[in-house]
Parts: sequence; C-alpha cells; structure tokens
Amino acid sequence: MKILIATQKPFAAAAVAGIKEILSKAGHEVALLEKYAGEDELKAAVADAQALIVRSDKVTATVLDAAPGLKIVVRAGAGFDNVDLAAATAHGVVVMNTPGQNSNAVAELAIAMMIYMARTQFTPATGSEIQGKTLGIQAFGNVGRLVGAKAEALGMKVKAIDPFLPAEKIIEGGAEPAKDLADLYSSCDYVSIHIPATPETIGSIGYELVSGMPKGATLVNTARKEVIDEAGLFRALQERPDLKYITDVAPDNYAAMQEAFGLRVFATPKKMGAQTAEANMNAGLAAARQIVDYFATGNTRFQVNK
Ligand code: NAD
Repeated sequence: MKILIATQKPFAAAAVAGIKEILSKAGHEVALLEKYAGEDELKAAVADAQALIVRSDKVTATVLDAAPGLKIVVRAGAGFDNVDLAAATAHGVVVMNTPGQNSNAVAELAIAMMIYMARTQFTPATGSEIQGKTLGIQAFGNVGRLVGAKAEALGMKVKAIDPFLPAEKIIEGGAEPAKDLADLYSSCDYVSIHIPATPETIGSIGYELVSGMPKGATLVNTARKEVIDEAGLFRALQERPDLKYITDVAPDNYAAMQEAFGLRVFATPKKMGAQTAEANMNAGLAAARQIVDYFATGNTRFQVNK
C-alpha cells in the first residue's frame, strides 16, 4: 500500500524516521509531503495513496474526491475537526485519531499558561501563586485528567465537569465534580478548557460563563478557538478588568484584544500544544501502527466515523 504523510507543519525528523521504519517494515511504500502550499498539492500527492497520515491538515471533501484509492486517514493527534467525517464516510474511508498520545504535552502547556498569567507574562509586576487556588477543568478526557493531576501536585484544588462522565469517574480521577458549567466557572480561579470542537460546543463559551468567574480569574484555552464566542468573551473582559484569557489558539479578534486588554490576554503565535518531540513521536508512531494493523487485521478500534 502507498501511505502518504502530509504535514503542512512537519513532524520532528526523528518521528518521520520512526513512522517510515514502521510502515516500510510492514511492506508499505511511504511518501512524504511537508510544508505544502495548499490543497492542490495535497490533492496531487494523495491521488494514488491508500492511506494518509495528517496532523492539523484539512482533509476536505475535495481532497477525498481526489483520492479514489484511499482507505484510511489517520489524524496524528486528538481533535479530528480538520477531517470532513461525513465526506470520508460517504467515500468509504475510515478515519482514526490517536487518542492520548499528545495529552501530556498539552497538559504541561495548560499548567505553564496558568503560571505565565499568574506572573503577569513574566514581567516584574507583582504576580500571584497558583498554589491554594481552585482550578476548574471543562471536560475530563485525556488532557483534562492530566491537567488535574499536575495541578493537584502543585497544591491547587481541582474541580471538573464532563457531560459524558458520571460524578464517580470524576472523583476517581481525583477531582471534585462541579454541579454544572455555571458552577464550575463561578467557583474557580482558573478554568481550563478541554472540550472538542463540535456543533454543540462551537461558540459555547462566552459572556455568561466568563462574566460569572470570580475576581481575578483566568480562562485557559488549549482546546480550539472555535469553542469561544469571541464577542462575548471580549465584552466580559471589557466589563471586568480583573479577568484574564490565555490561549494556544489565537482568536480572530486577537489584535483588538491585545489593544484593549494588554497583558491580560495572550495567544501563542502558532498552535503549539502538541508540539513537543515526545508528542510528535508518540502520535506519529501510533498513527503508523494503527495503519499497519488496519491493513493487516482490519482493526478499527480508534475509528471516529463509525
Ligand atoms: P479526549 O477525547 O480524551 O477528551 C475530550 C473530553 O471531552 C471527553 O472526556 C468527552 O467526554 C468530552 N466531551 C465530548 N463532547 C463534549 C461536549 N459536547 N461537551 C463537553 N464535553 C464533551 O480529548 P483530549 O485528548 O483530552 O483533547 C481535548 C481537546 O483538546 C481535543 O478535542 C482538541 O480539540 C484539543 N487539543 C488541542 C491540542 C493543541 O495542540 N492545543 C492538542 C490536543 C488536543
């Protein structure tokens, strides 16, 4: 089979070498397309491929149309909102993610972001400590649970909510269950967002929730920019000069936010949550193994368009 690795933002070189080794040993042919300019290049490269490994690259209906022999797409990472699942299903293409493989990298970033804001973006202004503060975790999945464990080790009190997890599972994971989302936001000094971007979650965090946060609170977003109602967040930050926002995914109105709120807001220049050598390696190798297994045994354990 021909497997295409298509990454506008490439994997670390060691991860590429590891992926190639796994696929070649299983008898597959590997093609690499890195830092490509746009969809046309991707369409040309995927035309004769049977499998595709991507990172945040967009796999649209047009890309799928251009790949008649494609059987499987693996998104090396957790979120799969960059793949058109309905189009993939219509084309008979299996889509998988690699859950858990980059969670630690994202969790470490979320903790770093809390400290960065607590210490006023590493300026000499008097900051605060995260020890003794309450952290609310919105969605207690792979990343959320790790953030909770790390925060607890740093002396924070941890609360969490997840609509798909019963309270016992949240307690088992070491956090106190919040009554509802409004309770989480109104009772926590920090709220860290770990929900996926779905039709239900897009634009779901805005004025109501943010303006209900306690004095001096900080909202941390390492999930997706789409889950924020940017106008609502802007209004809340405008009305409450004590609130702060830090995000791994720059909002569309970031320039206006910087101008209005200065050191109270920060966005990473490029999405970097999963950008560690370890996460690249873990997610890349998992993607390669899942493809080998799929062609060898038909294993669809990590399929997300079932
Ligand atoms: P996960 O699938 O392990 O956990 C997601 C959690 O969200 C689950 O516990 C699930 O029950 C919950 N959930 C699902 N639908 C929901 C809904 N409609 N409302 C509320 N909660 C819902 O995923 P993860 O590995 O913890 O990653 C979480 C998100 O973080 C990903 O979806 C992705 O968008 C984002 N992410 C960002 C980066 C980055 O580079 N910044 C890297 C990895 C993941």
